[in-house]
Amino acid sequence: MKSIPALDASLKMSLSQAQPVFWVNPNKLNTQEALKSLSTKALPTLSDIQLADERLRRFAPLLAQLFPETQATMGVIESKIKRVEQLQLGVIPFIGGRIIGDWWTKLDSHLDIAGSIKARGGVYEVLLFAEKLALENGLLNSEHDYTQFNHPTFKAIFGQYNILVGSTGNLGLSIGIISRAIGFNVTVHMSNDAKPWKIALLKEKGATVVLHDSDYSKAVEEGRAAALNDPFAYFIDDENSVHLFTGYAVAALRLKTQLADEGILVDDEHPLFVYLPCGVGGAPGGVAYGLKLIFEDSVKIFFAEPTHAPCMLLGMASGLHSKIAVEDIGIELMTEADGLAVGRPSGFVGEIMMPLIDGIYTVEDHTMLWLLHLLSVTDKIELEPSALAGFYGPIQLFYTKSGFEYLLGEGLLEKMQNATHLSWATGGGLVPKAIMDDFKKAGASIKIEF
Ligand SMILES: *Cc1c(COP(=O)(O)O)cnc(C)c1O
Repeated sequence: MKSIPALDASLKMSLSQAQPVFWVNPNKLNTQEALKSLSTKALPTLSDIQLADERLRRFAPLLAQLFPETQATMGVIESKIKRVEQLQLGVIPFIGGRIIGDWWTKLDSHLDIAGSIKARGGVYEVLLFAEKLALENGLLNSEHDYTQFNHPTFKAIFGQYNILVGSTGNLGLSIGIISRAIGFNVTVHMSNDAKPWKIALLKEKGATVVLHDSDYSKAVEEGRAAALNDPFAYFIDDENSVHLFTGYAVAALRLKTQLADEGILVDDEHPLFVYLPCGVGGAPGGVAYGLKLIFEDSVKIFFAEPTHAPCMLLGMASGLHSKIAVEDIGIELMTEADGLAVGRPSGFVGEIMMPLIDGIYTVEDHTMLWLLHLLSVTDKIELEPSALAGFYGPIQLFYTKSGFEYLLGEGLLEKMQNATHLSWATGGGLVPKAIMDDFKKAGASIKIEF
């Protein structure tokens, strides 16, 4: 095992034994100071994120043509927020107490096109690339009608290109599906965590799938290497892409409107707690960054990771970020939450999150499955295991020592009556019924003790 001086010995012990932890980030600053400390980095500004939103809206009429399921929203890919009142009641007998505040979820699980949070970043970066090629080739004769992207002259250009990506599954699905629909070739390098049904669906959509008998980091590396020196290859870099990050951040603009529409106040007296399942960090990082730009100190952000893949926690708590992997402290990367099965965090996201987020907690696989079953019964919402990591947050916040001390220390306890908890449901919409039934059955048989 590596010696890591900066990592607290008891935290290291708990992590390496795969015990659930609730880690409060000691490096958090108030939002203004935090953003100042990040000003040397090339990060999107709020207006960059608004431009990304506008770009997605320009493409909306095209998406409505390519994906009939998006016609209801006229091609705008957005998910609903929903209160999970029955879950909030349903957990009481198990935890022996209440969750104070109102508990909601953001249903990215049911985003059109890809059925996961990856429909935000992945679709955005592919469309951005398509727009760039169209401009470079002088194809775009109007900024106002992007349905022209469906024309054979565009497809003839796009068909020369190959988009590459490394993925445990969902990013591959998102990028594979949108790329094929636009007319690109696409190659998805997948890790050994990839679920067979995700592989089959990608092939059915016409993507080339390269399976690696290795983990996610290696699959990304292979994708990156394959794209090198090929002018017609475009590699989407899940570990480093600012475009993906920007696409994810658009969620924050949309959420602001949705909360206002529901009459949910977010201010100093009405804090918003957001719980985001985290793999390599891009998706939760982009969403968190956007939310901090908008709600500043009124939003509290927690990331959620499997006990067998706590890469972001390890990177942030040690300060080593992508220079450390879970294997370095003896953790075997092995989880049913395939969307979060990442051993080494993004090289750039952790550094950005350092002064911004409130903490990270870890969740055992059996807890995710238990919650999967419970939520399917209480509020009739069906999610894939990864997404349930976000639902353990409110429980840990009130019922762990470090969670409760955080609430006390930040002066939040007396405000919890007015708080909103938002568990980000990151995926599950495309899971085949038979597999979802198996998940629910497995979850139903789990006895959980608090
Ligand atoms: C990818 C994914 C995440 C986390 O996103 P990262 O960018 O890998 O951190 C969370 N949940 C699901 C279902 C995912 O597919």
